[in-house]
Amino acid sequence: MIILKNEQEIELMANAGRVAGLCLKMLAGKVRPGITTAELDRMAEEFIRGMGAIPTFKGYMGFPASICTSINDEVVHGTPGPRRLEEGDVISIDVGATLNGYVGDTAATFPVGKVSPLAERLMQATREALYAGIAAAVEGNTVGDIGYAVESVVRRYGFTVVRDYAGHGVGRNMHEDPSVPNFGIPGTGPVLRRGMVIAIEPMVNAGGHEVITFKNMRVVTKDGSLSAHFEHTVAVTPDGPRCLTEV
Ligand code: MG
Repeated sequence: MIILKNEQEIELMANAGRVAGLCLKMLAGKVRPGITTAELDRMAEEFIRGMGAIPTFKGYMGFPASICTSINDEVVHGTPGPRRLEEGDVISIDVGATLNGYVGDTAATFPVGKVSPLAERLMQATREALYAGIAAAVEGNTVGDIGYAVESVVRRYGFTVVRDYAGHGVGRNMHEDPSVPNFGIPGTGPVLRRGMVIAIEPMVNAGGHEVITFKNMRVVTKDGSLSAHFEHTVAVTPDGPRCLTEV
């Protein structure tokens, strides 16, 4: 069931989204060779709690941390720990913040120092695919239009979208209906209505689309290729898509 949000609820969601967005921005400034993902997690939790919000991921399905940190061939759901970032790595950081009962969900992939041209292109493609998806989040369009827009960009770069994981509705819960795949057929799937709030989150692999999921939820590319992940929480409004996690 898709839960529509009224204007007041969307304002509350924008407040939550702002916390998540600001946290991700803060972390972007901390990513450097030598820092551990556990240190990033600690800074994220302090930041989110300091804003009066709750780290949404902590305890979700037993997840032990406040952010997901996924390095190189890790796609999503990496658990922060003692691993130190190295020059040339790419790290995807996913942040969830709950404020006044509403969730903001956002992610981005960052270069650690200087990275390969392939990594740069992969991040560019994934970010561009996200914004193509956001542009399609228009009243009267469908979820399939978003997926089509996302995958079209990714294909143009010669990369692949992960098919086993998708974006999702967001609200009082992090995962609501509808599912928002990163591929689709135009004009198919649920129709986008004003008041729908969705997380659009392309996960893009430099190699094949296949992934392996481990027991602790960590997802890696099957062929060991690099992966990138960008995400925003977006409201469908009469004035067009409104990105709630962009700061
Ligand atoms: Mg998400």
